[in-house]
Amino acid sequence: MSASPAHIAENRRVLVVDDNTAIHDDFRKILCPSRRSDAALDEFESMLFGQSELRPAHAAFELEFATQGEQGVEMVRQARTAGRPYAVAFIDVRMPPGMDGIDTTARIWRLDPDIQIVICTAYSDHTWEQILKKLGRSDRLVVLKKPFDNIEVLQLADSLTQRRHSANVTQQHLEMLQQIIAQRAPATQFAQAALDTQARLRAGMADELRTALHSGQISLHYQPLVEVATRRAVGLEALVRWKHPTQGFIAPSLFIPLAEESDLILELGEFVLRTGCEQIKAWEQAGVPVVPLAVNISALQLQHGGFAEFVRRVLRETGLQPQQLSLELTESALMKNMHEHVAELQTLRADGVGIEIDDFGTGYSSLSYLKQLPIDTVKIDRSFIQNIDSNPVDAAIVSAILAMAQTMRLRVVAEGVETREQLQVLGGYGCTYAQGYYFSKPLPAETCRKLLFELAARPAFTETLRMQLVAGPHGAPRLVAVGEGKS
Ligand code: C2E
Ligand code: MG
Ligand code: MG
Repeated sequence: MSASPAHIAENRRVLVVDDNTAIHDDFRKILCPSRRSDAALDEFESMLFGQSELRPAHAAFELEFATQGEQGVEMVRQARTAGRPYAVAFIDVRMPPGMDGIDTTARIWRLDPDIQIVICTAYSDHTWEQILKKLGRSDRLVVLKKPFDNIEVLQLADSLTQRRHSANVTQQHLEMLQQIIAQRAPATQFAQAALDTQARLRAGMADELRTALHSGQISLHYQPLVEVATRRAVGLEALVRWKHPTQGFIAPSLFIPLAEESDLILELGEFVLRTGCEQIKAWEQAGVPVVPLAVNISALQLQHGGFAEFVRRVLRETGLQPQQLSLELTESALMKNMHEHVAELQTLRADGVGIEIDDFGTGYSSLSYLKQLPIDTVKIDRSFIQNIDSNPVDAAIVSAILAMAQTMRLRVVAEGVETREQLQVLGGYGCTYAQGYYFSKPLPAETCRKLLFELAARPAFTETLRMQLVAGPHGAPRLVAVGEGKS
């Protein structure tokens, strides 16, 4: 399937509800770049984004203000009606004489359930437990203590607008899936059209995925991870593939979110981990020069409970050494219930399993939380690598991440390296590992096995490591080595 969701513009609209207008000014200074003068913030920005004139245009926020909860609720209603909802609302907890911040939040969520809320409080009169009791547990709620740390405000505004954006993108993926299914639904199904179409279509696709799992439509491809200096393959990443009997390959970015809506992700996750471990073990036993395997883990697998025991069980049952496995988790997966995860991940790490942060830079990206996590590796998201040789902002971000990782003794992998130029820039910044189409696309198991042999047989990896798949005489894929200078 080649369709991809249409681009959704990122919503940077922020509402501040606070009875103190001096606080409004503070938000203006922090979130409106033209008025900012804060030294600490400038320092943070120059670390992440380079010089201020290089700040990416997307950092600008559109700020609006209310001084009372009722006014804030009304503004949210109007914004939604006008099709311009807010991404984030910062809400003061005390706004005499009117409604407090907690009631304001509850009413806002009734109007717009997707809005991200930051409750701002200077007092200890509402504990986290009390807030949760009133509002329920939510991934759209953060509490921020006054007086503010400017950097925290900026980070929250930035990461929460992105979170709402991601939710929109997921919704669009789903709509796309539904369209696909609707297009090929047999005529007999039209009788059921009066039913809740959305739920039925989702369930339909989920059923297909469940069937797929048991009928050999799901498999793994493997993409090498390369040491930049030596061009040696030092690892493989397992990437799940769904080959639908009529639709062809369906991208994981479409079906993983669907699997995550039910327990199916647990079954799929177990299939991927088990298949990957079995594959490496089988290769090892057959004398293939294996390298360690990285497996992507969904946030829901981690949250399910007993995660460390699950991984240990699969390792035991497949006979793979823990040192040959690492787990890739996204920042958002790690941030949810961080403290509970830390213990589970520490257990695995003590066994020798590697822990990696995937797509780094797209989530919270905070130094302080990185320090608390038991991780070995940071994988810089492809979006920063894409234009690294032409965009000084991206280059500055990557070099800041590398500098930060070096001081924390973390391994860094650049994801999605496609050109020699990108690789040169990365090498110049001291990036040690890279992964991407420049070296190899994700390969079916059998092709990957051949690649591992090819690589082990080469005395001078630097000459000819790049492998390209070309169609062989009968259409079967064949590996060819590509000389570096000929790109
Ligand atoms: P990811 O873990 O960040 O994987 C990297 C993605 O980038 C893969 O896409 C890979 O094919 C693609 N890629 C690698 N090099 C390049 C390059 O040079 N250029 C470009 N344009 N793309 C490159 P894929 O396989 O479509 O997977 C997408 C995402 O789906 C993965 O991102 C991961 O988050 C998720 N995913 C894949 N397999 C699994 C799985 O088994 N379990 C879970 N939970 N998630 C998975
Ligand atoms: Mg990954
Ligand atoms: Mg990634």
